Amino acid sequence: HPPFDVHAVRRDFPILQERVNGKQLIWFDNAATTHKPQSVIDRISEFYRRENSNIHRAAHELAARATDAYEGARERVRGFINAPDVNEVIFVRGTTEAINLVAKSWGSKHVGAGDEIIVSHLEHHANIVPWQQLAAEKGAKLRVIPVDDSGQVLLDEYAKLLNDRTKIVAVTQVSNALGTVTPVKEIVALAHRAGAKALVDGAQSVSHMRTDVQALGADFFVFSGHKVFGPTGIGVVWGKREVLEDMPPWQGGGNMIADVTFEKTVFQPLPNTFEAGTGNIADAVGLGAAIDYVNRIGIENIASYEHALLEYGMQKLGEIKGVRLIGTAAHKASVMSFVLDGHTTEEVGKALNQEGIAVRTGHHCAQPILRRFGVETTVRPSLAFYNTFDEIDCLLAVVRRLAAQRGNH
Ligand code: PMP
Repeated sequence: HPPFDVHAVRRDFPILQERVNGKQLIWFDNAATTHKPQSVIDRISEFYRRENSNIHRAAHELAARATDAYEGARERVRGFINAPDVNEVIFVRGTTEAINLVAKSWGSKHVGAGDEIIVSHLEHHANIVPWQQLAAEKGAKLRVIPVDDSGQVLLDEYAKLLNDRTKIVAVTQVSNALGTVTPVKEIVALAHRAGAKALVDGAQSVSHMRTDVQALGADFFVFSGHKVFGPTGIGVVWGKREVLEDMPPWQGGGNMIADVTFEKTVFQPLPNTFEAGTGNIADAVGLGAAIDYVNRIGIENIASYEHALLEYGMQKLGEIKGVRLIGTAAHKASVMSFVLDGHTTEEVGKALNQEGIAVRTGHHCAQPILRRFGVETTVRPSLAFYNTFDEIDCLLAVVRRLAAQRGNH
């Protein structure tokens, strides 16, 4: 028995019925963003039809409904990542804002001249640039965990980078450019042994595997709603309570204060400390509905089905003459990055689009790791659980046709 009926699942996602260039859409750009099930679309719409208010519970009936919906979403996030305390879940705009919050707030207090920050060679620009900015501002140093030729981080080399100046280690759990699943638990444990904090970028992992922040042991875990079948504009910083409580507020304004005079402001406790101003209430509620949806399908079912898809796709792609797979680590999720001899990645992307197949071509906001493999861009099909083996065959047919035309260029 398959773990779930993929055709039934596909009917939950209205956009999969779209036609592109006369063909049924094939969505292989899930690492960039995922599609939304009808239940998420309906939930956002219901919020605006029946609950819309700012979140000040006591004021009136709709305020109470909106507050319940928003806090209900926070509780769903807590359960989804197995956080011990709902007040450790902070809503932000997405992974980028999440990492900026930690770098700016935690970093301003805990990183100084001569200190060191470690990231891996795999990181998305969102997990490089904020740390680089912090390092420049503080006179700290950014150090990089190298990867092997399969695109997996080298733990021995990482261990050598750690020392008593290391303040934080920030690594991705799944590479958006290569699909590598990194050994985050070990990375976090080594960081802690060196007395450093650890942040895990879960942008590419939350939709493909179970997240348990307590088992992971990190100090921060961050992700974007739109990559886990929720709306854009909503994301999460989870942090350990004692770590969050040792951070200054990031932005100031309404909602995050308990009392303001011109002399002094007293701040609200968590999570409000870090949620200044009117947040993205409706989309937080939408993210809650996305989590309900994923829980209904079952993340383990999703993971095992996607694993079979990925194995098949990698195997068949790798057999095509002229294809070079970029990122061949033993442990991968979703992403199949490649280049094709005799064709630019842009040409491959255009040929695929002609057949209704959406992939990302480009540097995937991860230039350092692509350059590590001697390329500036790749073609990057990325899978989700609503994809099928037939769809992979359609992709393979286009790539095979292009490969056969090799030399005409
Ligand atoms: N980190 C990783 C690993 C990502 O894949 C992405 C999105 N491509 C981000 C961070 C940034 O996420 P967002 O654009 O949603 O802020």
